[in-house]
Amino acid sequence: MKSLVVLWVIFASVFSFCLDRQAFTFTKYDLDVRIEPEQQRLSVRGSLALRNDSASPQKNAVLQISSSLTWRSIQADARPLQFVSQSYTSDIDHTGELSEAIVTLPTEVAPGNSVELTIGYEGTITLDATRLTRMGMAKEQAIHTDWDQISRLSSAVRGVGNVVWYPVAMEAANLSEEGSLFEKIGRWKLRESNAAMNVKLSYSPANGGGLPELVCSAEGRGMLEAKAGVQKVLAACDFPRLGFQAPSFVMAEYVFLDAPQLQIFYREQHKERAEKFVQAAAAVAPFVSQWVGVGRRKALVAELLDPGAAPFESGLMLLTPLGDTDPKLLQIAMVHELTHAALPSDRPWIFEGFAHFMQAAYREQQQNREAALDFLGLHRAAVMDAERGGNSKSKDPSSPEQSLIATANEAFYRSKAAYVWWMLRDMLGDEALKKALASYRHDQDKDPAYLQRLLEGQSKRNLQWFFDDWVYNDRGLADFRVESAFARKASQDNYLVTVTVENLGAAAAEVPVKVEFDGGEMSQRIEVRGKGEATVRLATPKSPKQIVVNDGSVPEGDLSNNTYKVAAAAQ
Ligand SMILES: [Zn+2]
Repeated sequence: MKSLVVLWVIFASVFSFCLDRQAFTFTKYDLDVRIEPEQQRLSVRGSLALRNDSASPQKNAVLQISSSLTWRSIQADARPLQFVSQSYTSDIDHTGELSEAIVTLPTEVAPGNSVELTIGYEGTITLDATRLTRMGMAKEQAIHTDWDQISRLSSAVRGVGNVVWYPVAMEAANLSEEGSLFEKIGRWKLRESNAAMNVKLSYSPANGGGLPELVCSAEGRGMLEAKAGVQKVLAACDFPRLGFQAPSFVMAEYVFLDAPQLQIFYREQHKERAEKFVQAAAAVAPFVSQWVGVGRRKALVAELLDPGAAPFESGLMLLTPLGDTDPKLLQIAMVHELTHAALPSDRPWIFEGFAHFMQAAYREQQQNREAALDFLGLHRAAVMDAERGGNSKSKDPSSPEQSLIATANEAFYRSKAAYVWWMLRDMLGDEALKKALASYRHDQDKDPAYLQRLLEGQSKRNLQWFFDDWVYNDRGLADFRVESAFARKASQDNYLVTVTVENLGAAAAEVPVKVEFDGGEMSQRIEVRGKGEATVRLATPKSPKQIVVNDGSVPEGDLSNNTYKVAAAAQ
């Protein structure tokens, strides 16, 4: 027996050595998911369509699910297929491990061809933060991050990246390699964005009791179909395209509130808190609609029962504890969600980046530009880290994969993108940006230059240089330095100041140059090409004291060289 095990291990590892886990793209999921909260169980039957997108014929297919689930059957054309099931270490699942089935296909699948598989698997989904605790995170903290589970009281299960409850196939990702995990999951989502997924979730309570609500993050109608009469709870979750979402579901004895801007599922004792969400959404709705119009759909909020749970969003769904949050903070959160509802896009840097930009813009309306730039500044460390390559092992500065248009890295498509939107707004003004967005149609955004053309059409400016440096390529950041500043007294109350700004970075940007003098300041914008310099002249009423380039609106690697003391003006 022992030698058999040894052979088995060798066999399995040889097998996995020559496997191409990325060969197939999953193009269609049809899953019937039965949830048994009392047993913390899930059982799935359904079918998958896989298309061979590799260059060579494939005899094997890889299907991965959470290690807490077990493969029961894999068939093609109603005939069982041979498969080897092995455990595969990967942090794309909360358990830190996957049940990987290596399936022998009935015939070789030629490049470009597809195969349909009928599948069955089941198991439990319990609270498990192994992937975090094995890295040394305290369990108490880890379970507020990896809070997914099916349980009698409430169930909340996120998709790939947290719980692999639907089959995927990708190379192992490791949390301890910085950036590797999120980047791999991001790549998977981008690759699978055209997949259609139809999931039928159901729950049949064993013996009466209250019937929970079952909610999922799907697009379109039929999101909720709780049929209390037949003692069965059903939810049809149809994703015509997955987009960048991670299909997720929650189930608990929620109360449902359908407000004008959002739908919220909450626990009865948190009625007031739920109403605060509704009020916050109503308060920010005029601001959001000014920018991007009114959402065709509503944002969806569902309460997580663990008050310490980290919030999570996917598409239009926000899973969050309903805390006693400050109304102003709640408004900022709702700006993000309402922007998502009003501006659908398949491009993460537009969908997420613009939603983050909108939060900063709303801070400006709440308070002022400085507060907005402070808010934007919260993204700076993430951007810096990502640009230094700390976020990606294989970071190659010229790698097209890190351009905003192609990136799967959150630091880029959220944080850097928020800055890029802010710079565009500073350059073009609110009106041109709003008009361009009003004409944006996500289903027409096929060509990378689509948005650039819309913005150029409204602003009558050539933006090629900006999109080249910030969107189509990753040229890093700007890095400004005041190279020189001279002042000359032109008349009694008139000084002419000449400032030359150098950009040590490779990304061109338009940046404000501020001249400070006793009792006041003046500012002018200047465009400085990457590795270039530019000169600006200003007239000030008093002798200039100090020059400051960049008010924080352009992301920069080094902020320590942005201030320049001006020598006393020549007569
Ligand atoms: Zn978002």
